[in-house]
Amino acid sequence: MKLLKNLNLLRPCSEKPYLENAYVVIEGETFRGISTSEPEGEFKEIMDCGGKFALPGLINGHHHLYSALAVGMPPPARIPLNFTQILEEVWWKLDLALDRDATLTSFESGLIDSLKAGTTTVIDHHCSPSFIEGSLSLLGETGKRLGIATGLAFEVTDRNGAELFEKSLQENLDAAEKHAEDPELAALLGLHASFTLSEESLKKVAEVLSRKVGWGIHTHLSEDRADEEDARERGYGSVVERLDHYGLINSNAMLIHGVHCLESDAERMLKHGAYLVHNPTSNANNRIGMLPAIAAECLKPGLGTDGMQSNMIREAKEGMLIRSSHLGGGDTGVDYQALLFDHNPRVATAVFGSNIGRVEPGFRADLAIYDYHPRTEVHEGNVFGHVFFGLDAPCDVMSGGRMRVQDHRVLGIDENAAKQEAADQSLRLWKRMQ
Ligand SMILES: [Zn+2]
Repeated sequence: MKLLKNLNLLRPCSEKPYLENAYVVIEGETFRGISTSEPEGEFKEIMDCGGKFALPGLINGHHHLYSALAVGMPPPARIPLNFTQILEEVWWKLDLALDRDATLTSFESGLIDSLKAGTTTVIDHHCSPSFIEGSLSLLGETGKRLGIATGLAFEVTDRNGAELFEKSLQENLDAAEKHAEDPELAALLGLHASFTLSEESLKKVAEVLSRKVGWGIHTHLSEDRADEEDARERGYGSVVERLDHYGLINSNAMLIHGVHCLESDAERMLKHGAYLVHNPTSNANNRIGMLPAIAAECLKPGLGTDGMQSNMIREAKEGMLIRSSHLGGGDTGVDYQALLFDHNPRVATAVFGSNIGRVEPGFRADLAIYDYHPRTEVHEGNVFGHVFFGLDAPCDVMSGGRMRVQDHRVLGIDENAAKQEAADQSLRLWKRMQ
């Protein structure tokens, strides 16, 4: 057993959100005890944290690591005028240009950024149509190498033809079978979105989904109005109704965005116990609207970045500010602290089938540790202010009871070499996109 002492624990959304000079007992990969008095017992290792502050390791509820090399890439030849054109002109060109090396470099780059921002769990939604077979295992291996619990899913779609549809579907199935027993990996059945899947394709997806008990889909849903219009043209009342028609909305389903869902859709999601994930900066960037506050309240969504960034504190804060800019004085917003520290642990715990995202006994020992010297008092009632307006980047990050980042450096990896590789791979990738 390992003992951390002299740690100031910030636990937003917990019964005791602030514990000063806390003791944390870790056994293997799991928290065993949290207290403010010295615990008894034999400890193999005692780590004096010297009054540093710590948050639970953060969770990204929806990421696209494949977009990690898009930072600074040349703008598209044709300026996209709507959401569908953004996909056609930017993201579907990028994903098609990813080969194995560029995919691996993207995974590694995005996961390094995540870890350095204190994120120890990433639920990814992957797409590399030119490199399908083995891509999810490559992602799983990369996540394990860095110590990040990783959700695996390959976006199944019709847009690249029948052969690649079948291969993508198979990749999801292979990952689910291969990694079923691994607690650090969770394979879902990835779908791009309803509007890029035919009736025939959804029928096949439903058949494959039914082969594994307790399996769920991970799909974009009602992100732009175009998705809803497509479902209506096909004779359904909504996207949720269409997916539900094929039995795809169940208690393991991860539904991403839901911006244009109806009240009846929300009721359907609640009835099936499906999980919604909100991605505010991506929604703002794509100008597709904002998840209604009432939907956020009743569906208790998790929080993801949709590939926009790997920093969850920033995503929550920016989401809060985007919404505030649309509100009048006295209007109530959305509690982004709850999305990050309450809803995301609920989502991750369901997806991985083990306790993730809280500093409590029985949870995976994940911590983001900050060398933070607050100039104002910290107490139970003002944790929110310190988390969103005080903390900077974590100096140390622990996952599964092991240190993964120390003094801002990722352990077990040459970060400079990884950066050089990303610089080389990104130039090649951008050239292939032309
Ligand atoms: Zn997405």
